[in-house]
Amino acid sequence: NVRVRFAPSPTGYLHIGGLRTALYNYLFARNNKGKFILRIEDTDRTRYVEGAIENLINSLEWAGIDIDEGVVMEDGKITQKGEYGPYIQSERLDIYKKYVDELIENGYAYYCFCSKERLDEVREEQKIKGLIPKYDGFCRNIPIEEAKKRIANGEEYVVRLKLPLNKDIKFYDIVRGNITINTDDIDDQVLLKSDGYPTYHLAVVVDDHLMNITHIVRGEEWLASAPKHVFLYEAFGWEVPEYVHLPTVLNKDRKKLSKRQGDVSVEDFRESGYLPEGLINYLALVGWSPEGNEEILSMEDLIEQFSFERVSKTGGIFDKNKLNWVNGHYIRKSSTERITDLAIPYLIESGYITEEDVENRYDWINTMVSTVQESLSTIKEVPDKVDIFFGKEVELENEEVLEVLKGEQVPTLFAALREELDSVEELDEEFSKRLMKKIQKKTGIKGKNLFMPVRSALTGNLHGPELADVIYVLGKQNILKRIDYIEE
Ligand code: GLU
Repeated sequence: NVRVRFAPSPTGYLHIGGLRTALYNYLFARNNKGKFILRIEDTDRTRYVEGAIENLINSLEWAGIDIDEGVVMEDGKITQKGEYGPYIQSERLDIYKKYVDELIENGYAYYCFCSKERLDEVREEQKIKGLIPKYDGFCRNIPIEEAKKRIANGEEYVVRLKLPLNKDIKFYDIVRGNITINTDDIDDQVLLKSDGYPTYHLAVVVDDHLMNITHIVRGEEWLASAPKHVFLYEAFGWEVPEYVHLPTVLNKDRKKLSKRQGDVSVEDFRESGYLPEGLINYLALVGWSPEGNEEILSMEDLIEQFSFERVSKTGGIFDKNKLNWVNGHYIRKSSTERITDLAIPYLIESGYITEEDVENRYDWINTMVSTVQESLSTIKEVPDKVDIFFGKEVELENEEVLEVLKGEQVPTLFAALREELDSVEELDEEFSKRLMKKIQKKTGIKGKNLFMPVRSALTGNLHGPELADVIYVLGKQNILKRIDYIEE
């Protein structure tokens, strides 16, 4: 029975790379009818950020990743569900203590009293000698009785892993294959800190075992830690789970995505106007590829097709252009109402509409959005795209537009347009649809000669959305102003 976990540390907003790790865990769990668990790894108290757990859960939920077990939100509050709790590491301190004692008892760990100053000195010396900095084993052989006395006397201590010397640790990673590392290249890792909290390395092993995790799926930055974990499993006499280390999400320069280059948190992408299904579809492809050529894949498709065999060993490149293309696809596929609802906050913020418009003229907003929906890659672009509907000054796109507006029949055409507009208070959709037909009848002007000048005067462009929609969205006053402006 597959059980996987996403185990973030609450140190800030959920990073896009973290979302991909969560996604692959989730896809694998669903593909195998297993469970997806959210565990919070908060043993590093210095890096704890208020509100981070809420953000993690909200981001997962927004993305459509359902948590089966562990830390969840209910009515806006953090709670936990499942039989293997608590799922927040800071609530499990006594459990870790017990296992640390067991390791010490069996000779797999030892008390260390070295001061920070001494450790710094050792590290400095090693660096000068060109060695990889590593604990020098100064406290490895202090007899337990003596160590316990020193602790009773109030001396500060940590507990360290006691790795055997010069021993190969071997394990298998589903993506990377067989891995062997010699203990001489690994540090005697601190397992229990002086503040009584375990380090990540101890807590992760104890929890993954106690929570019956079958596959450990995480970023490749943890690959170097895996041998220590494997050694711990062996020391406890526990079965080692399957390992899957995922390639890092990189930018186009093959560097880690960083805040300096723009969006990195899931929150950022949401605010930049990406749809969850667009982001998820694209993100799945960063480091994994489907067997077929079809790259537009819903969550259901992804669940069905996902496997670790098709995860790449090398970093996945995050390509914003491709993300935009995928997202644009989902925007076009969505109902206009959905896009309108998502666009409203951006339209209000840019001052194009007010709360009152939303109440009284929702259809008008909806028609406006419908005229640009096809051309969007993100929701955030809506204000820029609908800009053509505001203000009296129309920017003519090119010389050609100017030529069209100089046409012989244009004065007649605009006069007829004014007359029609003057016959009503305001334009409704019906009137807007019939308007051009009426003018045609009245003036005898038709085809290109009819539509091009009107479109040019109203939008400054020769091409664009349905003219009837443009007319309705602009409204009577704006149209009159634009004709005035052109005729001046
Ligand atoms: N707490 C670790 C992190 O923040 C999780 C590593 C793991 O999945 O083992 O990435």
